[in-house]
Order: sequence, then structure tokens, then C-alpha cells
Amino acid sequence: MKVLSVFGITQSGKTTTIENIIRELRKRRYSVGSVKEIHFEQFAIDEEGTNTYRHRMAGSQLVTARGYKETDVLFQRMLSMEEILRFYHHDFVVLEGVTDCNVPKIITAHDTREVDERIDETVFAISGRIANDLTEYRGIPVINAQENTGRLVDLIEHKVYERLPDFPAECCSACGYSCRELGIRILRGQAERKDCVISDSNVKLLIDGSEIHMVPFVQKILYNSVRGVVKELEGYKKGASVEIRIGGI
Ligand code: SF4
Repeated sequence: MKVLSVFGITQSGKTTTIENIIRELRKRRYSVGSVKEIHFEQFAIDEEGTNTYRHRMAGSQLVTARGYKETDVLFQRMLSMEEILRFYHHDFVVLEGVTDCNVPKIITAHDTREVDERIDETVFAISGRIANDLTEYRGIPVINAQENTGRLVDLIEHKVYERLPDFPAECCSACGYSCRELGIRILRGQAERKDCVISDSNVKLLIDGSEIHMVPFVQKILYNSVRGVVKELEGYKKGASVEIRIGGI
């Protein structure tokens, strides 16, 4: 799954850029999901007085509102992006306004000052209102998402890689870099997605069908624990692939 984020100040053209990207990706037959970050502290669908609010106040820990047009599962806390992305199984996921995530990014801005205030090495394109005046800034293409949607999505297809893990450097540096640094090197064409060595690992953990990234240390613990038990069992063959399914932990 490839994930990118479009971020920038209010009214800089974020949502318009995202609409165009989603439309073009769908036209190219990709499956697409999206996430909108709400920067408004009071935001909540579950308002005081609603029936779902009453369920929550009575102690229900996960409330679902099931309607004819939509089904809303209401988590009672802010989920991490890692947790949210486990619900997605699309070719592309476009995040709006998300910056705390190790993914390639597009800045939308009115002017170069706004770009300078936000740019970092994970940015591979600039769009929004600034694209009416510039075509390139600090070596990064500035693309009008309405007039040149095809070019912007060509760049997305070229640059955005299968999502990397997002471990702190002290947890894993098996590729020689941190996860973030490897992402930056891939964007610069100095490394490839396959350089993340844990992707090739022979130990995989899936929870409800979604792969959970594990640092090499944890993979090793899991591997040794399972191997220690399995090799004592009748039917064990050296080098065999082992699959364990556990329901309802
Ligand atoms: S090997 Fe993969 S998980 Fe480990 S630091 Fe590199 S990119 Fe991150």
C-alpha cells in the first residue's frame, strides 16, 4: 500500500489538490482511500444527547452507528496513523493535513514563505495556490493540481513507495539508516524500497489481515519462541514454513 500526505495552511488548496489526485488515481484504476486530519480540538461526531453518546456514557467501549447511508465506528480516542492505516487495503491512501507520519509529502501553499516554514526532505512536490505563480522552487516541482493533474499523478506514481515502517532509529537501523532516512533516500533515488530488510523477513504477523511491522529484535523473539515449541511436535520438518492462526485474542 502506498501512502502520501498533502499538507499546508488552511485555504492553500489542500482539499482541491487531494480531490484531483484521488479522481486521477481512480481514473487510472487504482483503489484509493483517504484520511482527513481535523485540526479542531472540539471536533466530535458523537455529540452530547445523541443515542450513541448515551451508549458511551453508559460504558460501551466501542460504539457503532449503523445507518442506511453509512456506518460510523466511533473510537473514543485519537488513533495513531499506524492504527488507522490498518483498516486500509488500497493501492493508494491519501492523507490530508497529516505530518506525523513517515510518508512522502506534498506541500500546498499560497507563497514561498509558507513553503519555507514547512518544507522538509520528505516533500517531493508543491501545489496549491502557489502553482499559479511558480513551476519550481528549491529544486522541487510546483504543479497546478487542477490544470496539470496528470503530471502530478505521474510524479506520485514515480515517487511514492510502498509504505515503510516508522520505527525510531534506536529500535531498528538494519538497513543502515532510520526508517525516515531510508524514505528520504528512496525519494532522492539513492535507495530502493527493497533496502528495508525487514520486508524480506521470514517472520510475519498479521492482525485481522493487516501486517504488523516488527523490529528485527521482536521478530527474533517470535521466531525462537515458535520454533522452540514447533520443533518438538510430531510432523515438524526442518525448514518448513509454519502458519499459526489465533482467533479472538
Ligand atoms: S530496515 Fe526497514 S524497519 Fe529497519 S530502519 Fe530500515 S527502513 Fe526501518
